[in-house]
Amino acid sequence: METNIIEIFSSVQGEGRYVGCRQLFVRFEGCNINCQFCDTENAPGSHLMCNIETRPGSRKFTEIINPVEASEVAAYINRFLQQVPHQAISFTGGEPLLQAGFLQELIPMINCPVFLETNGTLPQQLEKVLPLVDIISMDIKLPQVTGREYWQEHKEFLELAKDKDVYVKLVIPGDINEDDFHKAVDLVAGIDDSILLILQPVTPMNGVLGADPGLMLELQQLALEKLKDVRIIPQTHRMMDQL
Ligand code: SF4
Repeated sequence: METNIIEIFSSVQGEGRYVGCRQLFVRFEGCNINCQFCDTENAPGSHLMCNIETRPGSRKFTEIINPVEASEVAAYINRFLQQVPHQAISFTGGEPLLQAGFLQELIPMINCPVFLETNGTLPQQLEKVLPLVDIISMDIKLPQVTGREYWQEHKEFLELAKDKDVYVKLVIPGDINEDDFHKAVDLVAGIDDSILLILQPVTPMNGVLGADPGLMLELQQLALEKLKDVRIIPQTHRMMDQL
């Protein structure tokens, strides 16, 4: 099986529960939604070439032609893992679950914990790879960011993911709709109030308003009324000038 991959590189995880851990990133092309603040070129077929770091952390890249075979990707990953120990391999995007079949073929060929960074809207695809995945970073996407509601999809997704090492990430725009914020918190609390919720202040870009520090504390306080563990963590890789 083959697919388009944007890049493969080694860096630190900049977001969420595993912030600071060394991870190997595999970024897939393509997404099923269109967020206002997206920083990835996601149009299908927009990446003729896949960029692969020449050695982990070198920031020097070589190019191979897309699409790439699962066995070829596995070979690059395994070579990286021999050079530097990584806490996990992060499958990201885009939306990696659009490539569930590719992941089913790829993951058994690699020997490292699997970290899935997903928008949390494709429960049926999650089901296909769930036994192969160790850690799930699931977003809840607010309607004001995507232009439509995904509450039902998010609920089904988290119901499936709850028995894994899962946490939920909610990106907070400065003009957040409070009713939707409460819906997101209620959704998580309704499934398991011990699931970690990360509130991530949006990185201001594309005209998106940043969230002020007072608002972040207010929202954390509100969420803590229903959830046991609510943390405010920004995109730290940008502060460190990491990829
Ligand atoms: S889910 Fe992620 S990759 Fe897809 S549009 Fe939103 S931010 Fe971009």
